[in-house]
Amino acid sequence: MLDSLPHQIAAIDHAGTIVYVNAAWIAFGRVNGMGYDFEWLGVSYVNVCAIRGESADFQIRATGEGIRRVIAGESDAFEAEYPCHGPTERRWFMMRIARLTHPGSRLCVVSHINITARKIAEEAMEALSVTDSLTGLANRRRLDVFLADEWRRALRQRTLLSLIVFDADNFKLLNDTAGHAAGDTCLQAIGKILIQFTKRPTDLAARFGGEEFVVVLADTKVDDALVVANLIREAVYGLDLRFGDGRRLTVSAGVSCLRPDRDGTGACLVEQADQALYRAKRNGRNRVERSEDADRGDRHAANPRTPKEAFQ
Ligand code: GH3
Ligand code: MG
Ligand code: MG
Repeated sequence: MLDSLPHQIAAIDHAGTIVYVNAAWIAFGRVNGMGYDFEWLGVSYVNVCAIRGESADFQIRATGEGIRRVIAGESDAFEAEYPCHGPTERRWFMMRIARLTHPGSRLCVVSHINITARKIAEEAMEALSVTDSLTGLANRRRLDVFLADEWRRALRQRTLLSLIVFDADNFKLLNDTAGHAAGDTCLQAIGKILIQFTKRPTDLAARFGGEEFVVVLADTKVDDALVVANLIREAVYGLDLRFGDGRRLTVSAGVSCLRPDRDGTGACLVEQADQALYRAKRNGRNRVERSEDADRGDRHAANPRTPKEAFQ
């Protein structure tokens, strides 16, 4: 019966020594370099897993401890999920160890089950949950996490954090004159431009909601953020997308820049950029304004961003 199961199953004794393996266990060992004649019986399971108490990796240490406790009879069962990627494919397994519920037995049963399909589905769900479905940009949830992370990092490293809020101009009129579907297409086109200009790992472009977008630029001073904001504004203008009445699609932007401190949060950056955006709207739209409180970052001129670089 055990040989007919796809799960890899072994029994180990009170010393952690393997005393039984099923056919799936042997087959997995063979395709993973154990050699055709490898003899599993008598092998230490703990050594096979390379699970050692002194490992620097917390997860490996915790797994080692969980297994040790079951073998020592201190707990009935333990399970852990772990990656085991091959050269050409990604794989995950769930390891479970449980004491055999047979009177007088001190054996434990170990099973390894391939959970790759579930893990890949979970990854896809995770990606979907942080993506805006219309534009493919990060959504508000992802933005909140990213901004909080970057705020903490900038605080530790005493670097600057810049943020730009974009808002499509007269978008209600666009919907009214060209139709909602055309409005959606415009939002997608803006999304593509935002992605082009946020290539660094410490950049993020997100759809904030409706026709508003946010770009976070870590370790970037306000003058450089202004350059990026204007390049994006010009690129949207350059799309030459027209309203029903012939006017062009444009965006306005507000730029903020702070050297994070312990009292503030990323919300301060959004608020300041929003105030600057409000001025950009009042001053005629299709323009960029910076927050009056923006830190220019003259003391910290590392990592300047040139227009050419922003295009790469
Ligand atoms: P302003 O220049 O002051 O920003 O004017 P506005 O018309 O862009 O601002 P308002 O807030 O009055 O209107 C925003 C419009 O954006 C209204 C709403 O229908 C439209 N909108 C929001 N989300 C979507 C969307 O997903 N698709 C489309 N097509 N339109 C959207
Ligand atoms: Mg708006
Ligand atoms: Mg608008």
